[in-house]
Amino acid sequence: MIKTDIIIIGAGPVGLFTVFEAGLLKLKCHLIDSLPQPGGQCSEIYPKKPIYDIPGFPSVLAGELIDNLMVQIEPFKAGFTLGEAAVKIDKTDEDTFIVTTVKGTKHEAPIVMIAGGLGVFEPRKPPIENLEFYEDKGVEYIIKDPEMYRNKRCVIAGGGDSALDWAIFLTEKNIASEVTLVHRGASFRGHLDSVQKVIDLSETGKINLVTEAEVKGINGSDKLESLTIKHKRDGEFTKETDHFIPLFGLKPSLGPIGDWNLEIEKNAIKVDTTDYSTNIPGIYAIGDINTYENKLKLILCGFHEGTLAVQSAFARIHPEKKNVLKYTTVNGVTGF
Ligand SMILES: Cc1cc2nc3c(=O)[nH]c(=O)nc-3n(C[C@H](O)[C@H](O)[C@H](O)COP(=O)(O)OP(=O)(O)OC[C@H]3O[C@@H](n4cnc5c(N)ncnc54)[C@H](O)[C@@H]3O)c2cc1C
Repeated sequence: MIKTDIIIIGAGPVGLFTVFEAGLLKLKCHLIDSLPQPGGQCSEIYPKKPIYDIPGFPSVLAGELIDNLMVQIEPFKAGFTLGEAAVKIDKTDEDTFIVTTVKGTKHEAPIVMIAGGLGVFEPRKPPIENLEFYEDKGVEYIIKDPEMYRNKRCVIAGGGDSALDWAIFLTEKNIASEVTLVHRGASFRGHLDSVQKVIDLSETGKINLVTEAEVKGINGSDKLESLTIKHKRDGEFTKETDHFIPLFGLKPSLGPIGDWNLEIEKNAIKVDTTDYSTNIPGIYAIGDINTYENKLKLILCGFHEGTLAVQSAFARIHPEKKNVLKYTTVNGVTGF
């Protein structure tokens, strides 16, 4: 049995920063994540993509942000159970919780913080026969390392920010030898400046833009060799390519967390915004996994939520102690 003050389910950016804020209050944390590495969406979906809205960092790669968070929390020696999904939560007679993973690892603490983000990652896949056969043989749903596409022909499908941003990135950085963007609609859902950039790149012949069209078939004996694309007006044509990257977003699925008697709304956990507590005293939900009026799924907002939640957790664990806010500049990180 692993015993700690706070069990954090989810080692994404929000779970990681919560370790820091808890550490300032001398509360020990143990993180559980179903993925084999910390970092959540930042590590799994877009490690090489720059983020522009982290205070104090005009631009930081998502993977670098996670590396920095790991350095920042190092003094607090959090424990990690990685590669194991938390599947069960039980309340004990001593007013603590036991969280059990899929492999049977048990963790006990008076406080549980759920920082499960999108829950179990599941990409939305296009309805193409034999699609699964070509996975990792030319078909990928997530761009983890753009270098994989160096000097390769790439067909990206999708009409949202992810599809637009990667089409621009692989073209402007001269990574892919050829970029084709296929989108079912005539207009895009992404940011207006990204849409304009793709149109500009298409007009100068740098991106092949195919709108009102869908990838209908994948061809190749051992690996992807070409795609069958159906255009609304012009009918079917074959496009030779090395990679097909459908970027249709992720299906949010709470997974086992959905069965823990927590109040759920719109596939997310309802919280009280005074301290991000859930309907079960002692369980908090922070980051992308929670919902409340005006919720924004941003890293910045998750950092704030984790900070307030640990203040409330401190009061639950130490009702007799008065907690006075101190600045790290005065005492240093470990001087509390
Ligand atoms: C392409 C893209 C670009 C983005 N750009 C920005 C941006 O520029 N700025 C910004 O602020 N935000 C951006 N975001 C959103 C940002 O990534 C999320 O807001 C952030 O990752 C939320 O952090 P989190 O820690 O709450 O959850 P996540 O990062 O989703 O991490 C949650 C973790 O919980 C784990 N988990 C879930 N259920 C369980 C379970 N039962 N047991 C164990 N582990 C579990 C998951 O495996 C995951 O590792 C972007 C997102 C995407 C997809």
